[in-house]
Amino acid sequence: MTDSAPAIFTADDYRARMARAAGAAADAGLAGLLVAPGPDLVWLTGYTPPAVTERLTLLVLVPGREPVLVVPALEAPDAERAVGAPAFTLREWTDGTDPYSLTAGLLDPEGGLGVSDNAWALHLLALQRALPDLSYAALTDALPMLRAVKDPAELELLAAAGAAADAAFEEIRGLLFTGRREHEVGRDLAELLRRFGHSQVDFTIVGSGPNGANPHHEVGDRIIQRGDMVVLDFGGLKDGYGSDTTRTVHVGEPTEEERRVHDVVRAAQEAGFRAVRPGATCQDVDRAARAVIEDAGYGPYFIHRTGHGIGVTTHEPPYMIEGEEQPLVPGMCFSVEPGIYLPGRFGVRIEDIVTVTEDGGRRLNNTTREMVVVD
Ligand code: ZN
Ligand code: ZN
Ligand code: ZN
Repeated sequence: MTDSAPAIFTADDYRARMARAAGAAADAGLAGLLVAPGPDLVWLTGYTPPAVTERLTLLVLVPGREPVLVVPALEAPDAERAVGAPAFTLREWTDGTDPYSLTAGLLDPEGGLGVSDNAWALHLLALQRALPDLSYAALTDALPMLRAVKDPAELELLAAAGAAADAAFEEIRGLLFTGRREHEVGRDLAELLRRFGHSQVDFTIVGSGPNGANPHHEVGDRIIQRGDMVVLDFGGLKDGYGSDTTRTVHVGEPTEEERRVHDVVRAAQEAGFRAVRPGATCQDVDRAARAVIEDAGYGPYFIHRTGHGIGVTTHEPPYMIEGEEQPLVPGMCFSVEPGIYLPGRFGVRIEDIVTVTEDGGRRLNNTTREMVVVD
């Protein structure tokens, strides 16, 4: 499920994005890109079909040619209303005709194609039968950085989504935790995100006590108790752009060990943030954060990558992970979210979305990273 496109973009913005994508495809030696409904299609055209069904909707981008959107005839009126519609040509097909041979007619019969990650197998397999001599690659593998560098309007929307998530945290920290179940606090977080303008909530993680030590834990029935560390990780889409932030709070006064672990994670998050600058690589950010945790003796308890990109989805390239040598470029947006997870006991994670500027990084989340004591 993707959000509809925000109104601030114009047909010219979508024309420029499609031209950039076709250029990137040509640079990568691809004959074209096939984009099914989902985040890539929204980003490229501003179009979200009324429903994603077995009827083929597909954007066909071929370097040097006009973009074409293949649509079922009954959905053509919807496609014509998309903000980006002036920037592409519609090719309608009616029930009983073959949309795959129509699509094949738009492409050269050989070369490689990038296909959006979320295209249905139903459609891709039929296209492969119609174009047996082409090769196919997932768009994220073929052009991982296609959506990675955000323009100023996108950055504004990401900053607004971050500010809304921050406002949700400022409210939740004042509410009662003791005696309430994780899923009740999670429901509060979801309501707050919506109240501050989110149209879609992607996750509300409430990991109390030992549940916080499992980074995959979402919410459960556990009753939150005095003495618990509670990992709060939440986000979604506001005006089509994502938020994702984590703060770890403590119910009542923390122990010395809990403070120490939280301090280490906070220092690691700071080190990761400070490593953000144009030309540094993604793995430099991971290494900077990880070094702080390793030096403090908690290396084996930091069990995930340091961050992921964010944009029209809440998880996308670039990934801040060892081995990712992609250089950082101004306009990239991603999380810096180190954590320490002590099995059976508690976890701590601190996460901000950060964007690369001309001379460093800028945080899009700005609530305190000191440990907050809640009731
Ligand atoms: Zn405690
Ligand atoms: Zn998160
Ligand atoms: Zn995240």
